[in-house]
Amino acid sequence: MVYKRIRVSSALSKTGLYDLDYAYNPYAGCHHGCRYCYGRAYTRYREVAEAWGEIVYVKENVVEVLMEDVLRARRGVVGVSTITDPYQPIEAKERLTRRGLEILLDLGFEASIQTKSPLVLRDLDLLSRYRDKVDVGLTITTLSPEVAAVIEPRAPEPGSRAEALRKLSVEGLSTWIFLGPIMRGVNDSPEVIEEIVALASETGSKLYYDFFRMKRGLTAAMSAVKDRYPNAMSSEREWRMRVAATVEKLCERESVRCEPAFPARERGKGLLEHI
Ligand code: SF4
Repeated sequence: MVYKRIRVSSALSKTGLYDLDYAYNPYAGCHHGCRYCYGRAYTRYREVAEAWGEIVYVKENVVEVLMEDVLRARRGVVGVSTITDPYQPIEAKERLTRRGLEILLDLGFEASIQTKSPLVLRDLDLLSRYRDKVDVGLTITTLSPEVAAVIEPRAPEPGSRAEALRKLSVEGLSTWIFLGPIMRGVNDSPEVIEEIVALASETGSKLYYDFFRMKRGLTAAMSAVKDRYPNAMSSEREWRMRVAATVEKLCERESVRCEPAFPARERGKGLLEHI
C-alpha cells in the first residue's frame, strides 16, 4: 500500500445524493480495495482510480480547510464518507475522520457515517455525545468470511462489522446496514439475505439494499469475482425485481425498515466525490 500526502483547497463538497447535503472525504482511495467498488469511477484522482486499493492519498490539510468551509456553509447533513471508507486503517494514525467529525458536530452539522470497519468504535464517545445528530451504517454484503474474502479481500471480516453494529446499537446510536452490492450468484440467495435481515432486526437497524452495476474500470477488478462466480456481473431487471421482492418480504416479516439505497433518479449521476 502506497500512501501519499496531498493538500486540498476544499473539504466540504456538495453532493447530489438525496439524503445528504455534503460529503467529507478525508482520504482519496481506499485500502480495502473491494473488487466491486465504484469509487474508482468517481474519484477525481487518476492515479488513485487506476490503482484502486493500492494508493491512498491522505489530505493532510483537510481539517484546517474544513474549519474554513463550515463557516461559509449552511448547516446540513454530511456524508462521512461518500467515496472512501472513513475508518480505513490509516485513520487509526491520522485521525482526519475523527477531527472532521468533531468540527462538524460541534458546529451543528449532522453526520451520516458509512464504513466497513470496527475502527468506528474508537469514536464511540463522540458519536454517543451527539447521538441525535449522527447515524452510522455498516456495509454488510455477506456474513460469510469465505465470500467476503473473494469480493472485499482487505476489508474487515463481516463478523467484526456485525459486532460493531451491535455495540453501536447498544449505545443507542441510530444504525443501518448497507446490503450492497447484491451480485448474482454471490450474495443474492434468500438464506444470505435472511441472515443480514436478522442482524438488522436484532440491532434495530434500517436496511438499504442495492444491486451491482457496471461502472468504468470495473472489468479488470471484477475478474477474480467472475472466475469464482460467473454470473456476478449480470444484473437483468427480472433478477433484480425478484431479489428486491425477497429482501422486502423478509424485512416485512421481521419488521425491519427497508428501502433501495439510491432512488432511480440518482442512478448514473456522477454523484459522489467532488473534492
Ligand atoms: S470499503 Fe467502500 S470505499 Fe473502500 S474499497 Fe470497499 S467499497 Fe470502496
